[in-house]
Amino acid sequence: MNIRNKERTGNLISIQDSLVKVRFQDDVIMGETAEISVEGKLLQGEVLQISPDFKNPGCGIAEMQVFEDLTGARIGDAVEFKGTPLSVLVGPGLLTSIWDGLQNPLYELSEQDPYLRPGMHAPALDEKKLWDFTPGVSVGDVLKGGDTIGSVPEGHFEHKILVPFGIKQCTVNEIIGKKSVNITDVVAIVTDENNQKQELKLAFRHPVKQPIPFKERSIPRKTISTGVRVIDLLAPVSYGGTVGNPGPFGAGKTVMQHTLCKYAIADVIIMAACGERAGEAVEVFKDFAELEDPSTGESLMNRMCIFGNTSSMPVAAREASVFIALTVGEYYRYQGYNVVLLADSTSRWAQALRERSGRQGDIPGPEAFPMDIPDQIKGMYQRAGADQGTGGSLTFIGTVSPAGGNFQEPVTQATMDATGGFWGLSQDRADAKKYPAIDPLSYTSSVYDSFISWDDRNKMLQTLYEANGIDQTISTIGLKKVPVEKYILYQKGLTIDFCVMQQNAFHKLDACTRPERLIIINEAVQKLIDSTINFAREDKEDEEVKELVKAKFDELRQWWKDWNTSAQSIDEMAVLPEKVEQFILQEEYTL
Ligand code: ADP
Ligand code: MG
Repeated sequence: MNIRNKERTGNLISIQDSLVKVRFQDDVIMGETAEISVEGKLLQGEVLQISPDFKNPGCGIAEMQVFEDLTGARIGDAVEFKGTPLSVLVGPGLLTSIWDGLQNPLYELSEQDPYLRPGMHAPALDEKKLWDFTPGVSVGDVLKGGDTIGSVPEGHFEHKILVPFGIKQCTVNEIIGKKSVNITDVVAIVTDENNQKQELKLAFRHPVKQPIPFKERSIPRKTISTGVRVIDLLAPVSYGGTVGNPGPFGAGKTVMQHTLCKYAIADVIIMAACGERAGEAVEVFKDFAELEDPSTGESLMNRMCIFGNTSSMPVAAREASVFIALTVGEYYRYQGYNVVLLADSTSRWAQALRERSGRQGDIPGPEAFPMDIPDQIKGMYQRAGADQGTGGSLTFIGTVSPAGGNFQEPVTQATMDATGGFWGLSQDRADAKKYPAIDPLSYTSSVYDSFISWDDRNKMLQTLYEANGIDQTISTIGLKKVPVEKYILYQKGLTIDFCVMQQNAFHKLDACTRPERLIIINEAVQKLIDSTINFAREDKEDEEVKELVKAKFDELRQWWKDWNTSAQSIDEMAVLPEKVEQFILQEEYTL
């Protein structure tokens, strides 16, 4: 056998898509990373399983998943074990970055080769850029992992420079003064708990499957203004909350994620795009650079980073990218920031797990997903949360794309169990172009606070619910059987749905509704719900009255839709409740 030496190396003995087997001597650690040299390129992989090699005493076999395309790999190719688990580089410069699923910066890669060939690597963070470091500790100070040694400005943020979380305790031996440094410069030297000297820099690596701890985990309480009316009114999400957003193909999951990306009020937004369509990711990059952050007015990219799995990466990289994105999210939460992580789509991630476990020959669970898929999904969402120790939070909103829109499938079900909120996108609503297609009657939320009162919210829901029932009656037994009062209720529900729940994500004004506008809308909605519209009926048939009612409500809806896309100033906004009142009191009704 061509095992070359007793170093921590090995050779490929089997290649099956992204899963390979490697014969090695000495020891290999579960979960450590390794590099396979294939035609002069180094491809990254991770050890999944280790077993004894019965044919070659003294050797072992490591099963590995490789995150990069293995085209050209041959039996016998050399593998070098790195001794470290899959990790992510965290430090200043994360914001504005766009990486592939393994944190290779896409711009830099595309400068090397626009075709993004497998095995291309570039430093995850800019190594040349200078940062103005201000020290925050002195020689002799005793610190622990996560403590701050100083800070640098990153955009309008104060980016705290932390002691790597792997260090339990250390004493500062040296610390530089106020100075411009890059991420490869040493800013402090410390002696750790094992009496080892360690050089601290602005950036460090953290293992992606080892969550960055909370200082003091707390219940998510504060509601996020997402700008999406149906969410903020009926199914809000809190800073530190979790939401699963399932929907069939074309129902608007990606549009929803992009909307949240643009308008959700947060310090940091991280996108993990395990895309369904390759072109989507590119569009996002172009689009977002030109947009403004709603809180600061700066470029939206200044508060963002994006992990986009390019088509040149095999499915295994999707699994890695979600963990990498989570770790970056936790890192900023630890700094005290409110982070929103958007993952589109977690089904693609789950499929990566399925492919891997299928190839490993695991006993499959439902629909061939690994048996432990619910635990894996839970484990992922559990990393979100609020931290009152740091004041930061990590909110995780993941889309799920169940085949055929069947919410009974394992990933959707497990997501429902794992998340506090659940925004189900309905095929029927998407077909009817009722966007966003969140069904106002089918979602869950776990909020403690909202922009409108619970009573108001429940009245709104009740109206939508009853209107939906009447709608079904109309479509089954016909309009004639519906009494005028019920028909008016139906029209009220229709108006709330059409003018409030539906929102055009592509209209500059309509796309985003802030709380002050929501409150005005709610005032109008409550007026509408509470109104009794009296018709003089002596000389009119019920059907005639219904026609009149419909015409009047159509007019109101048209007016309201126009208001959605035109009213901007407080004065213009304030007209809405007045208009509704005026509509209710119209003379024609009370002849
Ligand atoms: P999915 O990711 O669920 O497959 P997309 O997010 O790509 O679906 O949405 C498909 C299409 O639906 C979009 O291209 C867009 O035309 C339309 N759409 C979805 N949501 C909205 C919205 N809020 N406003 C307007 N159009 C929307
Ligand atoms: Mg999509």
